[in-house]
Amino acid sequence: MYALADCNNFYASCERVFEPHLEGRPVIVLSNNDGCVIARSQEAKLLGFKVGDPIFKFKDVVKQHKVIVRSSNFALYGDMSRRVMQTMRLFSPDVEVYSIDEAFIKLDGLKGRNYEEVMRQMREAILQWTGIPVSIGIGKTKTLAKLANHYAKRTPEVGGVAKVPQKPDEMLKTVEIEDVWGIGRQWSKKLRNIGVSTAFDLVSVEPESIRRSFNIVAMKTVMELRGCTYFKFEQSPEQRKTLLRSRSFANPVTSWQKLSEAIASHATRASEKLRNEDLVAKVLRVFFHTSLYNRTDPRNSAHATVELIPPTNVTHTIIKAALGAAKPIWKEGFKYKRAGVQLLDLSSGPVQCSLFDSQEGQDRDKRMMVLLDAVNASMGAGTLHFAATGFTNVMQMRQLRRSPRYTTHWDELPKCLCGLD
Ligand SMILES: [Mg+2]
Repeated sequence: MYALADCNNFYASCERVFEPHLEGRPVIVLSNNDGCVIARSQEAKLLGFKVGDPIFKFKDVVKQHKVIVRSSNFALYGDMSRRVMQTMRLFSPDVEVYSIDEAFIKLDGLKGRNYEEVMRQMREAILQWTGIPVSIGIGKTKTLAKLANHYAKRTPEVGGVAKVPQKPDEMLKTVEIEDVWGIGRQWSKKLRNIGVSTAFDLVSVEPESIRRSFNIVAMKTVMELRGCTYFKFEQSPEQRKTLLRSRSFANPVTSWQKLSEAIASHATRASEKLRNEDLVAKVLRVFFHTSLYNRTDPRNSAHATVELIPPTNVTHTIIKAALGAAKPIWKEGFKYKRAGVQLLDLSSGPVQCSLFDSQEGQDRDKRMMVLLDAVNASMGAGTLHFAATGFTNVMQMRQLRRSPRYTTHWDELPKCLCGLD
């Protein structure tokens, strides 16, 4: 048996934890650089906000309905997510973190207990300890757990927890085909054309014919809805193969100085992540381009790939390689909108050195990185950094409406005022 726990309107809920007066009011959260809507509270959904809506088009609605608009605060969301997942692990050690606000939980360790009751206790604990409301679905397979979760969200009477019953037909009939996990919009259209409009209809279709008209994944989905396990539980995600760090500039970049600082910053963050996951990269790709939407300015898109010999995760080696690859393809006269660094062919384990590498140099680099990471971990990211990343922080995002990072920054802790009388 599996459960799927999913935080309700996660980013909006995080915003509310430390500002309870936002309860009941429409809240939306914007993407990096405050461009588009990426998350909505239930009230904002009812006002018609969609994910991807550019905010400047909705100034009137925002004003009229006093919509609370927030810049994204990933320091807060990431930390709240960690707390939610930690709470789940107290109830079952088998937790597969599926996304920032969702996790599958294997219930087999709870044999003999009432799954629904345990999940209700877990839901209460998460709400009490973190302030985040979650919905939980329970089923024999991951797909059924997802389905029950969907049902729980749309059926307030069940109090946030729903289990697929022994005779699941009635529940299956209430779930539209678009809302079945793994069935995308394209497949839904095709399925509706042959008269399949709910999860119930899909279960009744011969799996083999689904495989022929769609593919093996669609067939597995049907089998999972019938209660046969096809999607495995994966506690530790597979080792990553690539790592990408890129971002749009708040203001277009026209000088090599600024562009190189951005590239060096991305290279720095990518190297840190590599060390964090104990990996080395063999190939580096660097790229930058002008706006994809601006049709009046001249356009340019450049990228270059280099091999890192030997494979490495040392920040200054990766910065040097990235800038060395970017310099020859940089062109004056363009307004660059985005830059990034991608590391490929990642591996863990021993590194094959070339004939001319000095062991001494490598040991020194390694010690330097251990020191760098230790200083930055205890005194704040970027305390020690390479001069190539600059001192003005070209990567500064436009985030005019970000809430405080309540749980991760000492100077932004929530304050409470106590009366003395
Ligand atoms: Mg969610």
